[in-house]
Amino acid sequence: MSLYEKTAHELHELLQSKKISAVELTENVFDRIDEKENLIGAFLEITKKQALESAKKVDEKISRGEKISALEGIPCAIKDNICTKGIKTTCASKILENFVPPYDATVITKLKKENPIFIGKVNLDEFAMGGSTENSAYKITKNPYDVERVPGGSSGGSAAAVASGESIFALGSDTGGSIRQPASFCGVVGLKPTYGRVSRYGLVAYASSLDQIGPVTRDVTDCATVLNAIAGHDEMDSTSTNATVPDFTKSLIADVKNLKIGLPKEYFVKGIDAEVEKSVKDAAKVFESLGAEISEISLPHTEFAISTYYLIAPAEAATNLERYDGVSYGARVDGADVVEMMTNTRTEKFGEEVKRRIIIGNYALSAGYYDAYYLKALKVRTLIQKDFTDAFKNVDVILAPTAPTAAFKIGEMISDPLKMYLQDVCTVPLNLAGLPGISVPCGFTKNNLPIGFQLIGKALDEETILKAAFTYEQSQNFGGQVAK
Ligand code: GLN
Repeated sequence: MSLYEKTAHELHELLQSKKISAVELTENVFDRIDEKENLIGAFLEITKKQALESAKKVDEKISRGEKISALEGIPCAIKDNICTKGIKTTCASKILENFVPPYDATVITKLKKENPIFIGKVNLDEFAMGGSTENSAYKITKNPYDVERVPGGSSGGSAAAVASGESIFALGSDTGGSIRQPASFCGVVGLKPTYGRVSRYGLVAYASSLDQIGPVTRDVTDCATVLNAIAGHDEMDSTSTNATVPDFTKSLIADVKNLKIGLPKEYFVKGIDAEVEKSVKDAAKVFESLGAEISEISLPHTEFAISTYYLIAPAEAATNLERYDGVSYGARVDGADVVEMMTNTRTEKFGEEVKRRIIIGNYALSAGYYDAYYLKALKVRTLIQKDFTDAFKNVDVILAPTAPTAAFKIGEMISDPLKMYLQDVCTVPLNLAGLPGISVPCGFTKNNLPIGFQLIGKALDEETILKAAFTYEQSQNFGGQVAK
């Protein structure tokens, strides 16, 4: 087994015991990138020189006999909407083509304390708007299990890099499913933490009341380790919670005895692929055989989640994207006067999907329609939150598909935005309710495409979903592997 195929916790043992060096590991991952990147296209920027320099420093530390942190010397990739000081952060948009942030996002500052090896910035749908990575202004990332298919999105670069062995772990962001859905399409683990668990400072805003940063990893153990590194209160993000951060690796215990798991009937309705449904229901049986109590539950307002999300997210996006005016940030396209300059800049530099959302968002927020659309959506959001509160009176976690299908073909959905939006049916309710969710591989379709299930937890209870995910993973052969 090559080094790039191993998990962070396996590599940590090998590094600490001097069986391998960080330089050797980093070079092995770059060799894999050389082998795969032409086919996969996960990266927007590769920082090889800096990576090898920092690997060398880790090796010096190890040779001095010092202890290293769990992520020290481990190669990682960062979604390109997370600000990295001195390294371009484009959001896969032409409008930020040359934007080099003068500061690090809080998650980067926190990760740097653990000293992993930053190998590059990875692709996404422009400004994280999409579910296939086809909306990137630069390239289409391919699914490592079938390069004719999408890796999911918007964190498609993060999931594809981890699944192909081009990175050991990655950070993604999730506004309506963007960590979990690509994780499920690429056969890796992805966790969206509780809203506020991880600082959003330095994450380029898409929809601020929904955005969260989280880990994309090969297995649940690595997921807990990365979450440990990035979670916690941040005075630079007023929405970050000051709840105590547990040691999430303490949740890595294989035990679901008497755990109450609810299967929401609204997540298994028409449109869901038969193989996906079977695979998730089989996972429920596995949980049952391990001692969990399974029951059917109802989240009655699920059918309104997509329309609610696709009003709130674009409304917030329209507001957040006002800052790209050709003056303060990014690209400028000249015009005869300031209005024409702004118009030209935004017309030329934003992609189709971003423009569509700005238009929808501004429409929903406009004086005559605010009450009918935006305000109404906020009210329905409260109902969706209440569904979960009620359900969690009877169950500890909720088990559902992550996405209604496995990875679809490149080009199959892109011309039909509504169809694409429907893909988010199982993921957006959690963002609307602020709840944590983890996607875990649970099998493959007949065509060898990964399938994932999602475990949804109570607010700030990442521990229970990690524990359940770990228990399942330990009982299976999935988890930890790289696409060939
Ligand atoms: N697919 C959803 C959207 O297009 C979710 C994106 C995300 O989570 N960033 O908005």
